[in-house]
Amino acid sequence: SPVIVWLRRDLRLADQPALAEAARKGSVIPVYICDDDTPRHRAMGGASRWWLHHSLQSLDASLRARGSRLILRRGRSDEVLAKLAHETGAGEVHALHHYEPWWRNAEKAVAKAVTLCLHHGNYLAPPGSVTTGSGGLYKIFTPFWRALRERMPPPEPLPCPDAIPAPPQWPASDALDDWALLPTRPDWAGGLRDTWRPGEESAMERLAAFAEEAGDYAGQRNLPARDGTSMLSPHLHFGEISPAQAWHGAAQAGGSVDTFLGELGWRDYAQNVILQYPDYGAKNAREPFGDFPWRQSPADLQAWQQGRTGYPIVDAGMRQLWHTGWMHNRVRMIAASFLIKHLLIDWREGERWFWDTLVDADYGNNAVNWQWTSGSGVDANMFVRIMAPLTQSAKFDAADYIRQWVPELAGLSDAQIHDPPPGVRPRGYPEKRIDHREARERALAAWQQAKAAA
Ligand code: FAD
Repeated sequence: SPVIVWLRRDLRLADQPALAEAARKGSVIPVYICDDDTPRHRAMGGASRWWLHHSLQSLDASLRARGSRLILRRGRSDEVLAKLAHETGAGEVHALHHYEPWWRNAEKAVAKAVTLCLHHGNYLAPPGSVTTGSGGLYKIFTPFWRALRERMPPPEPLPCPDAIPAPPQWPASDALDDWALLPTRPDWAGGLRDTWRPGEESAMERLAAFAEEAGDYAGQRNLPARDGTSMLSPHLHFGEISPAQAWHGAAQAGGSVDTFLGELGWRDYAQNVILQYPDYGAKNAREPFGDFPWRQSPADLQAWQQGRTGYPIVDAGMRQLWHTGWMHNRVRMIAASFLIKHLLIDWREGERWFWDTLVDADYGNNAVNWQWTSGSGVDANMFVRIMAPLTQSAKFDAADYIRQWVPELAGLSDAQIHDPPPGVRPRGYPEKRIDHREARERALAAWQQAKAAA
């Protein structure tokens, strides 16, 4: 009987252990389910929906080139899979493990309805398997990475199959367009189209291009004006490429590639955290954050979202995000810190905005990085380390980056562009929402107040 392959954030054919195992057993029915109904489900943001549409299209084309196709269904995963198994006579469902709380719920429910075989393959090591001497899970990145690093390299990636055995009859499929994943009016996705080509083929091309430069990663990665990072994040998030492929692709580069491998380690670490704290995207892990005196300021929040804070580096990042669905990591850190500490707005507002606008929006990575910046997370308390955005901008040589994303400042000199003095600040470019020193003092006072109340 045919075997169902249930695809989620693993939209690839190479190094896909669920697909490989299913194909070994017989004919294969690949299915993607649009599931908005499993308990604790968190709806995808707009940029992710755009990506998903194109990724599914690309996957279907790759499957068709190998004699197969992608079946699309909508509903609760357990109900859809039970019905599909009944319709097709499939005996088993194969899938990769996923760790978002809603996917763990779905896996439990599916396992009650059909024979579910889960495989590993979306992380360097199975989340939950990297343990301390006493068998517990790590809370802090550095010892986690040390332990994970010892188990590396990951296994060699599985090859892409040339052909995938088809069932005698194909079950019905939804039409992708009926899912209406793409924006219509207004169509805000022009910048996404200009920047990205979702899908496995494009992911592999990006990896190959990055591998040529990866040896210089440590020197380049903090400079927002350079293309010094891989830009693989949305491809990794949607599983168009596996971390083992990324590891082996880059590892040959030599030089400072270890720093890059450590970033892949952060991705594993984030899953290790949400495994222990499933609500990490919405709940502070650390006291006294429960009663932190956050400001309610819709005007400040909107200025941040729109890239109109009066701090060029923050505005450049927020506009890059809006336009391309991606932001350079150094600038993500600066922009996040600015929202939390300069504007004193709850990190969850930022987490939600990133969730909606990032093409790489990832529950674990996003929550871990936001809670790390705010100091509310499981690791060291970072709240009192207040980043100075103007100094950061100069230090990491962001002048050309600002020129690209804040064109009204393009005519300013390198010396002036990070912090345009009143005389040269062009009309139309906003004043600073708050002075840096004042913001710093206000943030530290708020921290003292929260500590005293705890
Ligand atoms: P590279 O530097 O080439 O790194 C390679 C890969 O390692 C990335 O593709 C990513 O999968 C992983 N990685 C790198 N840095 C981190 C990190 N700090 N934490 C976890 N994984 C990492 N990354 C996301 O994938 N999704 C998110 O939703 C997300 N939200 C973030 C929110 C904030 C406030 C901050 C500060 C960072 C966030 N990051 C997130 C992490 C990081 O900024 C991006 O992964 C990185 O910028 C992606 O670009 P790249 O692929 O060129 O990275």
